[in-house]
Amino acid sequence: MRTRITNITLTPGVQGQAHIPFIDHAEVHVVGNRIEYAGEAANAPPFVEDETIDGSGCLCMPGLVNLHTHTPMTYLRSVGGDLSLDDWLHKAIFPLEKQWDAQLIRTATDLGCMEMIRFGTTTFNDMYFYTDEIAEVVKQNGMRALLGHGIVDFDESCADMVEGVRMAEKWHHGANDRIRFSLAPHSEGATTPTLLRKVAQTAKSMGLVVHTHVSETDFDLQGCIKRRGATPPAYLEQIGLLDGPVIAAHCVWFNDADIEIFQKHGVTIAHNPISNLKLASGIAPIAKMLKQGCKVALGTDGVASNNNLNLWEEIKLMPMLQKGNMLDPLVVSPAETFAAATVVGAKAIGYDDLGLLKPGYLADLILLDLQVPHMAPTIDLEANLIYAAQGSDVRLTMVDGKILYRDGVFTTLNRQQLLAQAEQGAHEMRTRLSKQA
Ligand SMILES: [Zn+2]
Repeated sequence: MRTRITNITLTPGVQGQAHIPFIDHAEVHVVGNRIEYAGEAANAPPFVEDETIDGSGCLCMPGLVNLHTHTPMTYLRSVGGDLSLDDWLHKAIFPLEKQWDAQLIRTATDLGCMEMIRFGTTTFNDMYFYTDEIAEVVKQNGMRALLGHGIVDFDESCADMVEGVRMAEKWHHGANDRIRFSLAPHSEGATTPTLLRKVAQTAKSMGLVVHTHVSETDFDLQGCIKRRGATPPAYLEQIGLLDGPVIAAHCVWFNDADIEIFQKHGVTIAHNPISNLKLASGIAPIAKMLKQGCKVALGTDGVASNNNLNLWEEIKLMPMLQKGNMLDPLVVSPAETFAAATVVGAKAIGYDDLGLLKPGYLADLILLDLQVPHMAPTIDLEANLIYAAQGSDVRLTMVDGKILYRDGVFTTLNRQQLLAQAEQGAHEMRTRLSKQA
């Protein structure tokens, strides 16, 4: 398939520049799953297309990368609204999570993917259970994902890790390389040193990324200091877990030495500002981390602590929180924020050819409507994009060269059917739980 996207304003994305570049009167040529040209229409080489997409009034930009989520948790949306973290987990979340089965997981995952596709997320990084089912669903619905089977092991059997490795062998680079697998030990507190050492060795020998939660709460930090005599980053460094690529979610309770350790090892921090606020975990020192040269990307976390998968909310909140917290409007630029929502996550997941719109890169892109009141005037498009744009402005979502959403229509998912199934499935979980009580 050869596709020409025409009459657009284009941003090829941003990597290291001080400002997000924009090109007016641009077009993009997609051949198969890759970009062949992205730039001024006047300079475009001759191109014969099968399909033309008229992007008049739209900005064409790289698809968003949600670097930390637990997608099936859509069924737990708005569960345990305003409880303490401990009550939220033990009284609201865990009892419901015990009710999952394979069929419920499949529909809940599709619901989350539909939401992400709708809001322009093309790639997500997931950690959950029933991960074979999640991979099957992603294979069908066309998204790109790094999937990890949650490893929670306190004994020496390492059963979850064995499962995670089996799944990685089955799925890594699957579905035309849209699916990749990580090893996903839940956190320091949910694993043993023996297990984490095994994870580090196995990830290295299999060439896998490690995805884990780090210092989400002060409770996590204090527990780690008590158990291991070190902060989580120092402990993970000692164990050898940071020798390969790592995606660390949260990193809220970090001191200067922790930041230095993560910078030194090139760990990518998955910052989830809404989840951290909702669960009253705190505010991660993102401005400091960026200043020290850490890699920072954005995530929503699971729906239960957000309560949606609309990454545009994180895009606005990330710089706002740092400005307010540091009493300095100059910390965290729009360009750093845009990179955090796109290319930084793409690289962390392990793709060298994702997160920017340039020749040879994978065709994961979105069209954003600029002809809406809250985006006018478009004099400062960079600021509009970070502080004014809405997820609902997304008009088209393309992953791997294939359109998954366009003007209200999902091409791989049946919206009405899925919403009805999801409603039924979420009720089913609650019915099962109440019968046990
Ligand atoms: Zn999480």
